[in-house]
Parts: sequence; structure tokens; C-alpha cells
Amino acid sequence: MNQLAKAGFFFEPHPKSPDNVVCFLCNKSLDGWEENDNPLEEHLKHSPTCGWAIVAAIEAGFGNYGKVHPLDPAMVEARKATFGGRWPYESKKGFKCKTKKVGTRFGRSVEQG
Ligand SMILES: [Zn+2]
Repeated sequence: MNQLAKAGFFFEPHPKSPDNVVCFLCNKSLDGWEENDNPLEEHLKHSPTCGWAIVAAIEAGFGNYGKVHPLDPAMVEARKATFGGRWPYESKKGFKCKTKKVGTRFGRSVEQG
């Protein structure tokens, strides 16, 4: 379960697939999980361009993703994709990052969904 959550999935069971999970970013649904499945590996297999899956793979040291330069265009795109158009400051000019404020608010808003 922890692994599934780290791979970007939330639980959305259906009568026909009681173990169905969905990626919050790429909306990929995966079910039919087996005990030895690696959620991150399955995520990348079925949705290889998902930004969250790629970033999570780097963090987990999975595959060769961590060896790609962080400024490689594909990596930049992957990280940008994790914002998913939700970044609230894109249209404001002169945005300055207030780490403290944004940090605490972001943590809370994620928990509340
Ligand atoms: Zn995904």
C-alpha cells in the first residue's frame, strides 16, 4: 500500500476490479495486482511518460532514471508534468518563492486532497 501511494496511485476500486488504483497525475488505472508486483515498475511500463512515475523512479533509485542528468529535457518535462497545471502562480508576474509559507500550506492541502 505504501509502495502504491509512493508510486502516485490512489485507491479506486470497482465491482469488477476490487484492487483498482489510479495515478493522480496521468490518470492511468491499474488492477490485477500480484504480490510481487512493483507498483513503480508497473506504472512506468503502462505509462512511461508519467512525470510522477519518472520522478518517483529517480527517488527510489529505480532503473537508470537516476543516471540521467537532471537538466536533460526529458527530466525537466517529467518534473514540470508533476505540477499538472495546478501551480497557482503561473499568471502572476514577479512571483517570489516564499519557501516557509508555501511549504506548510502545500503539505496541508495535499493531505486534505
Ligand atoms: Zn502516472
